[in-house]
Amino acid sequence: MIRFDVSTLVKARLGTSLTLDVNVGPQDLADLEVDFLRGTIQVIRVQSGLVVQGTIESQLMLECVRCLETFVFPFTLELEEIFRLSGAGLNPEYVHVVGDDGWINLIPLLREQVWVDIPMKPLCDLNCKGLCPQCGANLNIESCACDRAWIDPRLAVLKNLTG
Ligand SMILES: [Zn+2]
Ligand SMILES: [Zn+2]
Repeated sequence: MIRFDVSTLVKARLGTSLTLDVNVGPQDLADLEVDFLRGTIQVIRVQSGLVVQGTIESQLMLECVRCLETFVFPFTLELEEIFRLSGAGLNPEYVHVVGDDGWINLIPLLREQVWVDIPMKPLCDLNCKGLCPQCGANLNIESCACDRAWIDPRLAVLKNLTG
């Protein structure tokens, strides 16, 4: 849980701000496990609620779509979001809300942002050679004896039938 008590800010006058340090170990962001979250967040009291902005460094393990190896993917989350004050009336524009107890939970916001930052098709390296389509060898770490000339998929089927 990454929650902060911002109740003093809720009662403060507009423009008042608070700086929060984030420094936590492994976190489960719903369906994503990140190794750590580190950074600084500024929370500013504005008319419509609290602006939460800051930069968080993190990393997680991803699986390369070409060679299927897992690798460390470091990334930076740029946060900039308004947290609506509770009881201020529903406004569908603002997804994030300051709790009735004056606390904010950053997990849903971080989770949203992680999904923006991680690649749809992660690659361990832009030049990843991937797996040999025939024997499955990881061509980044070994070479194999297969003939990797392009094989027409229709011919490949024939080859499998006769082989
Ligand atoms: Zn790879
Ligand atoms: Zn091979």
